[in-house]
Amino acid sequence: MHALNADGYDNVPTKVYLVTYPDECPLCHVAAQFSSCIWAYRRNQRELEGLFRCPRHECQRLLIAEYVMDSSTGYHHLTRTKPQAARAPIFDPEVKAVSASFVEIFTQ
Ligand SMILES: [Zn+2]
Repeated sequence: MHALNADGYDNVPTKVYLVTYPDECPLCHVAAQFSSCIWAYRRNQRELEGLFRCPRHECQRLLIAEYVMDSSTGYHHLTRTKPQAARAPIFDPEVKAVSASFVEIFTQ
């Protein structure tokens, strides 16, 4: 559980409780330990968006995690992260051997 202060649509700073932080970066698709939320914003009474940065040295991209509040507990649960980058397709080694440039162009 992570307690933090969130800004909001109603301009009232509010203490919120995020049950979990993301555990995988949607951009580099590597499991990562997110240690802090840079900024949290309540879009309305139930929905919240949290700004995070990928902790991997090779990535460090910014991402947004979407949360929805469970009205019975008041805790926010992670529903998805964005933007989602496409995963690099996996090619058969034979295709790679025949045309390395095809794999390179297709992946771009
Ligand atoms: Zn990343």
